[in-house]
Amino acid sequence: MAKIILQGIPVSVGIAIGKAYLLNRDHFCLGPIQNISEDLVEEELKRLDRGFNITISHLKELKSRIPSEQTEYASIIDSHIMMLEDPKLKNAINKYIKEMKLNAEWALEKGVRDIEKSFKGIEDEFFRTRISEIKLLSRKILGNLIGAGDELKPIRSRVILVAHELTPADTVEIDVSKIMAFVTVLGGKTSHVSIVARTLGIPAVVGVEDVENFIVDDQLIIVDGFTGRILIDPDDEEIAQYIEKEANFDKYKRELFQERAIPGKTKDNFSVKVMANIELFEEVSSVIDYAAEGIGLYRTEYSYLYRSKLPSEDELFEEYRDLISFMDSKPVVIRTLDAGGDKIGKGFEKLEESNPALGLRAIRFCLQFKSVFKTQLKAILRACVAGNGLLLLPMISGLEELKEAKLVLKEVKEELRREGKEFREDVPLGIMIEIPSAVLMAEALAKEVDFFSIGSNDLIQYSLGIDRTNKYVSHLFQPLHPAILRSIKYTVDVARKAGISVSMCGEMAGDPFCIPLLIGMGVDTLSTNPHSVPGVKRVIRMLSKKECVELLEKVLKNNSVKENNKLVKEKIFDKIPEELTFYTSFFAK
Ligand code: PEP
Ligand code: MG
Repeated sequence: MAKIILQGIPVSVGIAIGKAYLLNRDHFCLGPIQNISEDLVEEELKRLDRGFNITISHLKELKSRIPSEQTEYASIIDSHIMMLEDPKLKNAINKYIKEMKLNAEWALEKGVRDIEKSFKGIEDEFFRTRISEIKLLSRKILGNLIGAGDELKPIRSRVILVAHELTPADTVEIDVSKIMAFVTVLGGKTSHVSIVARTLGIPAVVGVEDVENFIVDDQLIIVDGFTGRILIDPDDEEIAQYIEKEANFDKYKRELFQERAIPGKTKDNFSVKVMANIELFEEVSSVIDYAAEGIGLYRTEYSYLYRSKLPSEDELFEEYRDLISFMDSKPVVIRTLDAGGDKIGKGFEKLEESNPALGLRAIRFCLQFKSVFKTQLKAILRACVAGNGLLLLPMISGLEELKEAKLVLKEVKEELRREGKEFREDVPLGIMIEIPSAVLMAEALAKEVDFFSIGSNDLIQYSLGIDRTNKYVSHLFQPLHPAILRSIKYTVDVARKAGISVSMCGEMAGDPFCIPLLIGMGVDTLSTNPHSVPGVKRVIRMLSKKECVELLEKVLKNNSVKENNKLVKEKIFDKIPEELTFYTSFFAK
């Protein structure tokens, strides 16, 4: 048996067996708190300045090494340089040298702790990233203050990266081609590390408590990206077992890859389109590689993050236009900004929300900050001239909100006309159905739009009252809960009756246990991460619509999640080879 087995949240499938590389940026020792005399204050302030300046010049040097096409990474470094050049950060630290007579190292520690405190209670991912970036920068400054430097130890061979957290800035410095898997303490399904891992197609497990305390550099570990298990010092039997599991999965992936272009059509000829969800423009190559029939969801938030200022209309236009042209005539569903106000860096007041998931998010934010919304809408409408773009509004909760958004859309078109800019007048408009009130209002909403896209991630979160990022309640996040299935069924029925199309773009779309039920309901499109596309198509081909409808009818009579899970499992295991269930995120063995 392995010496220790840890459990985390699997966020990217696959198996890795290899040596650990600890990304430890906390190895500098501060020592006991040190006071300085009044006459040393000036000198200490200069020393701190020097620490900042060396760090800035290292960042500039790092930026010069980044290939020109990686503009996103370059802008992260720019934003770090700006943070260091912002007098507010230095003043918060200087204060401790001048007033408390602390040495530069301790002043840095205290100043950053103050900033951290002011961010406390804000659960938003953007702010968590911001504070972790400030901490990362402070560790670099500290390294330079004590003369230890701020460089990472070099990665010579392929390794499994173990870190407390992996920020975009870390990914800039690390040669990701040498990484076999990621393991982190912090992070969720939608955090940076998870997205990078899925994009690279390597396994990742996040939320592994205290992992850095159990693993040392070069220790042999196994990462199971299906179950979230981390085996430290595995024995020979376990290694053999996992080598086999890895080989089976690789073989299976190769097979799936070969049949990726075969469409998702059931045995009795019911066609379901299988599209891909992406977060970054760069992921478009995986969309093509895995033969997705379009982009079913482009989460546009990431173009707004890690920047010093908001993107301009032209910048967004170029990004969307390139994406749409790249996909040729295939559909590209561009979702407008689904982020809280506090996710949008500079130019906005920090929002003190005690409950950000229920706060000024997504469409609510856009309706509050109309100029941000209008800029994005203009860019989308203009870009759609290049091909088959569609517009999707997130988190619509009722009719008035939708009408208000449509009014802004109308205004935007008038402005574009006045400005003499070319745009597509008839871009199809859709809404996410991801709030219970939208389900209940589906009939009225359907009259106003061209399509529905069901977001099961949020629909489950808001219907069952389960924070989707909270690992303590993740076992209660139940897609086959009768209330969820009834909500989805009702939404699909309404869409059918209204003659509009309906897709599923939440995680349920990529789950072999949910797919039969979604087919039974008559969903037109399933949109999932690019790597899962061939697997989803295969599941569809293994089923008949008739049996899916029969299964759905049985399941809908049930009032119990357990019974539903059992019924569906029986059905699926008997139909689908076990390997395919590797792709499942909810019922991992
Ligand atoms: C969803 O809520 O299911 C969804 C697809 O949107 P996101 O995961 O971006 O909130
Ligand atoms: Mg959502």
